[in-house]
Amino acid sequence: MIIYANQLDESAFLEADVCIIGGGPAGISVALELQPTNKKIILLAGGTERETVANQDLNKGYVTPKGSHEPLEENRRRAFGGASTVWGGRCIPFDPIDFEARDWIPYSGWPFSYHELEPYYSRAMELCKAGANNFNALEQFPNHAKEIFQGFDTEAIVSHKLERWSTPVNFARDYAEVLGNSENITVLLGAHVTKINTETDKENVSSVSVVTRDKSFTIKAGQYVLACGGIENPRILLASKNQFHPQGIGNDHDVVGRYYMAHLNGTFAEVAPSNRKRILFDFETDNEGVYCRRRWWITDKAQEAKKIGNGIFFLQQAKNQDGHRDPLFSTVFVAKFVISVLKEKSFRKTKSRWLEEKDKIVDHTKVILKHGWKQVPVIYEIAKKRFSDRRLPFVLPSVKSKTLGLYFQTEHFPNPKSRITISDNQTDEFGMPRAVASITFSDLDVTTVVEAHKIFAERYSEANIGKIKFNASELLKFVEKNITSFNTSAHHLGTTRISNDPKLGVVDADCKVHGMNNLYVAGSSVFPTGGHANPTLTLVALSVRLAEHLKKAAATVNAENTNLHVLDQEELLNKVAVSH
Ligand SMILES: Cc1cc2nc3c(=O)[nH]c(=O)nc-3n(C[C@H](O)[C@H](O)[C@H](O)COP(=O)(O)OP(=O)(O)OC[C@H]3O[C@@H](n4cnc5c(N)ncnc54)[C@H](O)[C@@H]3O)c2cc1C
Repeated sequence: MIIYANQLDESAFLEADVCIIGGGPAGISVALELQPTNKKIILLAGGTERETVANQDLNKGYVTPKGSHEPLEENRRRAFGGASTVWGGRCIPFDPIDFEARDWIPYSGWPFSYHELEPYYSRAMELCKAGANNFNALEQFPNHAKEIFQGFDTEAIVSHKLERWSTPVNFARDYAEVLGNSENITVLLGAHVTKINTETDKENVSSVSVVTRDKSFTIKAGQYVLACGGIENPRILLASKNQFHPQGIGNDHDVVGRYYMAHLNGTFAEVAPSNRKRILFDFETDNEGVYCRRRWWITDKAQEAKKIGNGIFFLQQAKNQDGHRDPLFSTVFVAKFVISVLKEKSFRKTKSRWLEEKDKIVDHTKVILKHGWKQVPVIYEIAKKRFSDRRLPFVLPSVKSKTLGLYFQTEHFPNPKSRITISDNQTDEFGMPRAVASITFSDLDVTTVVEAHKIFAERYSEANIGKIKFNASELLKFVEKNITSFNTSAHHLGTTRISNDPKLGVVDADCKVHGMNNLYVAGSSVFPTGGHANPTLTLVALSVRLAEHLKKAAATVNAENTNLHVLDQEELLNKVAVSH
């Protein structure tokens, strides 16, 4: 059942076996996995099915130093479905090396190996609708070319690894029917948690305080799962301080919010291979029609030899598109500009964007007018793919473009100084302290980007396959500048990290908050290290694993909470206020 929390009677005191706080991919995955158990589940979605200005305002916060991180509302959605309402759908699993303690990377090592998570990736792939849990191109596409540049791969850099693309699944929309028809799951839209309470003792959550715009009520459950995203999870724990937890829940050792990570990414180097016919450049589709694409991966051997973190590359449009003469790319560029201008409500911002982009727009328009008409059928085909049920992930530039950009995405290392805290004096409309982001980078983060590029560039020159534009000291300057005004691309990791040691982590290997009996965390905030992979597939796999654990743990908790009265759907419906 899915209802607006606003419809509930103000005096409603709701009870469930499991209360899931957060309605994004993490929270919804836990709910879906628990559905067959018949446990009574209440999922508090924060926002509603539509993004609103007022709900997005709840995500606003502060960045210190000013401008060093994107505005906190930019890459997040306080809505049912969370950021999956807008995500791109790129699915990549972590590599086995990401779970290992690497002696050259401080604070590295998960308390379990890749093999522990591997089976859960299969279910996560189903939930993400991204095809088989097989990321080896040689197995998936045995009859296709083996490498991106034939004969290029070495022991240090390989290109048989795939990324796969989700439809992209909007977890709220795609699973609304299952959740709505479920007899044991109740989704409350517009229900914002302001506090996790431990009223009777230190180790047990007794309830959560929930508000809507005009009502407030309390929810009591046997177990609680906090699944509000990598910035909101620490914010809620820190804001829940009380007599038992003067520094916030789970924060006895001042770890909540620390080790905040993202990924370093961007496009710097450019290549102009001489033989474009022999490049494996485009998306490939598997037998279910799932879009897949190759990427170069810096092997674990090379990472260890160079003492760097994990990283990948793939080809896309070059940073500087001057003189590309590709009508398709120009059409996409102009269309994106027009759409963003139409969405922009401020005349001042529209004017400044136009002044910024004017020369490029004029140049691209000339390209479209000169060559575009020939491309009409191609543009039509691409538009069809972009609007189909399984969406073309993005429009690639022509492989014949003068140069192709080398996009990189590399690991950002755990560092206790990089952190999310809460403001001492600024609150949102519900009185919750606003989040403050202070992201920090180390030399190792920067070195990883540079050394990974060197591996690529040296191999490219050695293979003698064309021109490359790359200068290591310029790259260093580029990265050093980027990290002073960083954009996380919505990868908010590590702020309630897993560790067996409560001094180094907020949750244990089961994702249970250290020192608590019935509070768990789901989402990328539990990642102890971030690898190079986009986070969603792994956080969904961890959520599926957490649900498995909750199924086993449920019996014990219920026995302990003998006074807990679990609502059935009929009772809940009776609590819906008649006035709505
Ligand atoms: C533009 C964009 C593109 C992206 N592309 C990709 C991609 O290609 N691949 C990839 O892996 N990832 C991508 N991501 C990231 C991906 O969307 C996130 O990793 C994922 O959504 C995180 O899931 P989550 O459930 O942990 O958190 P979220 O999606 O952030 O959901 C949080 C949920 O908690 C709720 N909530 C928040 N506060 C409260 C509160 N106080 N009380 C109750 N509920 C609350 C919210 O309403 C929401 O329902 C992208 C993100 C963006 C913005």
